[in-house]
Amino acid sequence: MSETVFGKIIAGEIPTDKLYEDDDCICIKDISPQAPTHVLLIPKKAIPRLVDATAEDQAMLGRLMLKAGDIARMLGVDEAFRLVVNNGAGAGQTVFHLHLHILANKRFEEGDGLGL
Ligand code: 5GP
Repeated sequence: MSETVFGKIIAGEIPTDKLYEDDDCICIKDISPQAPTHVLLIPKKAIPRLVDATAEDQAMLGRLMLKAGDIARMLGVDEAFRLVVNNGAGAGQTVFHLHLHILANKRFEEGDGLGL
């Protein structure tokens, strides 16, 4: 569980600003925010990348998506936020423990569907 920085945060080995925690996941502020609101929703199960998830993870991943909506509501950004999962170094993934970026309060340009 503690090979990555997120594993260490989940194990309580590294202190962090925790916004939410339950049996499945934790939500923390990103240390290097790319938008005025930038939090990370991290499953406690250490799945390295989205493509490493299996059918066994289906229910947990579903709960994670619903939780992303709850967190957006909790942060007051549920009318406009972006959910990002980087899968693999080529896509910008730097921490190989699956996580969802929740980004908001940034002016997302019309037509820049994938831009950050
Ligand atoms: P990735 O690039 O893997 O999709 O996203 C990793 C994210 O984790 C980056 O946005 C980075 O700023 C964030 N991050 C890396 N180390 C830490 C840390 O120790 N604490 C927190 N809160 N965020 C971190």
